[in-house]
Amino acid sequence: MLMGERSKRVGVLGGSFNPVHLGHLHIAKELKSRCQLDEVWFIPAYQNPHKMNQSVVSGVHRLEMLKLAIQDYASYKVMDIECKRKGPSYTIDTLRLLREQHPENEYLLILGSDAIKRFHEWNSPHEILKLCTLVVASREKEGISINYDDNKLERSVREAIISTPLLKVSSTEIRSLAERGESYQSLVPAPVFEYMQQNKLYTQPE
Ligand code: ATP
Repeated sequence: MLMGERSKRVGVLGGSFNPVHLGHLHIAKELKSRCQLDEVWFIPAYQNPHKMNQSVVSGVHRLEMLKLAIQDYASYKVMDIECKRKGPSYTIDTLRLLREQHPENEYLLILGSDAIKRFHEWNSPHEILKLCTLVVASREKEGISINYDDNKLERSVREAIISTPLLKVSSTEIRSLAERGESYQSLVPAPVFEYMQQNKLYTQPE
């Protein structure tokens, strides 16, 4: 640790953020308070290995929208490491880098219950669990449907579930409303809405 550097409890929220929406800010706020986090780092994927078929707007737009979304929150940060690295964005690579760059911090990887369904197919899930504490946000502790071949992994993931209210909103819904010319203003932060309008994002069919 460098002189003067304080260890922080950091929530890591990865995703496509295509675009960022109020559900993302809600989960960050909820878990910041529930897990006593000092900061939440939003890390947009350059290419989500689990959504290879989905087209995303450029990393530049997604990073810009994230910066606008969190501008009023001093403890939230946007990291461009995955966008800079390019290629498929594997969480294990990102966690290794974070631990190399800031070994003094404690990392809590935040995942929504939809993202956890295929966690057993991710690169090096056991090593991920060694490098961070997993936190899975789910509406209901029992209601989450996971069924891995790997019992040890499944147990660890079940233990990581925190029951918390979630907002019913997804980037998919916003893209489809924008494409149909319908209103999505109430689902994204105001400056993100303005940015999307100015740049005519998601108005063309995917
Ligand atoms: P898409 O609809 O394109 O699949 P998404 O809305 O699920 O996207 P992502 O960027 O893939 O958004 O999600 C990033 C992280 O935020 C994931 O861990 C996901 O589970 C979580 N998340 C997404 N939407 C919500 C929500 N409404 N409430 C809580 N967590 C969410």
